[in-house]
Amino acid sequence: MNFADLGLSDELLKSVEASGYTEPTPIQAQAIPSVLMMRDLIGIAQTGTGKTASFVLPMIDILAHGRRRALMPRSLILEPTRELAAQVAENFEKYGKNHDLKMALLIGGVQMGDQVKALQDGVDVLIATPGRLMDLFERGKILLTGCNLLVIDEADRMLDMGFIPDIETICSKLPGNRQTLLFSATMPPPIKKLADKFLSNPKYIEVARPASNNTNIVQHKVRVSARGKREALRHLLKTDNVSTAIIFANRKTTVRELAKSLQQSGFSAGEIHGDMDQSARNAELQKFKDGVISILVASDVAARGLDVKGVSHVFNYDTPWHPDDYVHRIGRTGRAGATGRAFTFVADEDAEAIANVEKLIGGKIPLFEADGDAGRSDDAGPPAERPTGRGRSGAKRAAEPVAADPVAAESDAAAPSSKQPHQRRAPSRGGRTVQPVAAEPLADISSGDPVDAPEQVSAPVTAKPKQAAKPRRAAEPEAISDEWNGPVPGFLNVSAL
Ligand code: AMP
Repeated sequence: MNFADLGLSDELLKSVEASGYTEPTPIQAQAIPSVLMMRDLIGIAQTGTGKTASFVLPMIDILAHGRRRALMPRSLILEPTRELAAQVAENFEKYGKNHDLKMALLIGGVQMGDQVKALQDGVDVLIATPGRLMDLFERGKILLTGCNLLVIDEADRMLDMGFIPDIETICSKLPGNRQTLLFSATMPPPIKKLADKFLSNPKYIEVARPASNNTNIVQHKVRVSARGKREALRHLLKTDNVSTAIIFANRKTTVRELAKSLQQSGFSAGEIHGDMDQSARNAELQKFKDGVISILVASDVAARGLDVKGVSHVFNYDTPWHPDDYVHRIGRTGRAGATGRAFTFVADEDAEAIANVEKLIGGKIPLFEADGDAGRSDDAGPPAERPTGRGRSGAKRAAEPVAADPVAAESDAAAPSSKQPHQRRAPSRGGRTVQPVAAEPLADISSGDPVDAPEQVSAPVTAKPKQAAKPRRAAEPEAISDEWNGPVPGFLNVSAL
């Protein structure tokens, strides 16, 4: 199958070719012909599958016919975050270069006047976050009655962010006979309800989750103590052929402190989290993309869906509280044919979180047996969890088949033993021989480093293990502020700028 088989115009095929894409991805192959036939569509797919082009490409051909009208955008794409909205706009810019299409981006923080001016001139594509769109709509600055094509992207993330009521309102303002495309990584009941209400006889497409099925990502979990995480991280950064890495932490404070600590240890690291204003986030991201820094420490909200190519490693410094975040995080590596490695640090507190992740991806993540066991807790769990000494002569790099993972103890290591999580800390006396922690000292890189344990200790996961699956971002929720403090990207047709 190639792009020419999908029914796209010759102009569009030229820009696809110029992008260097020779073959459509599965979501593109299935979605593009249906969208061109004006069908509604539900796409169960996430970033990394090529889903953006699966709606942007046919939209360009659909919008090539017809006229712009003031204040009445012809199509609307809803995105949960400003970064994703900007990324979709970049896609329009790339693929639409042979077409005369105007787009506008409605995201918080960009001066309202400029956006209104763009809308007054008439736009073919409006890319918006729900909050800002509602704001302009309520001020009477925008009419949605000419909007015959609607894309709701990352619907499950919209749900997480509380945008569903806004989306329902927006849907009800659009023409009833419009075409609607809904993309979501998962299909929780509220999204199903939304789809039932606002889509008509949709084609349903589900493509493999990149995380669980993507053989390009070698996944490992690493047993660590809460206090040993930094040392374990530094060790892996030095020994695992890391060229570029994104390191995810669950809390903004951890992101900040970890980035600082890595810089102090001589790593070229930056940070991106929800407390930074948009221009600072953009600047940091650009530095990472340009190779000025090779490590980006990130929080989930700030990094959601970002398309940064060629990331060799993803580290989950904290096991994510929400299993979906695991999939999104590790999807930053192993993209578009490249191979990548993903390490997830698992401390005692993470037992239930990692069990939820493994349940979601439908298998156990192999335990990494590292050279030097950096960061391993003194009481690293029951003996069967511990390496059998194989790793001592050198890092055991390759992904092992799950079956080779040391026995049933593997599940003990990560199982949600929510009743008595701390019992696992007591070394068992029976069974296997406990191997000594490997000799490589790592003292040179760990001396004088502040300990990052307090956040971990104070986490609700520790305090109430039974509730560990739910406390998502409870400790320090990332505010989804609707402010854009940076410049409007140059590629946008916001004519007043
Ligand atoms: P997305 O899932 O839309 O975030 O896309 C993930 C990455 O795949 C982006 O870097 C795209 O540029 C890239 N991509 C999209 N379509 C293709 C394709 N047909 N072949 C190769 N790479 C692609």
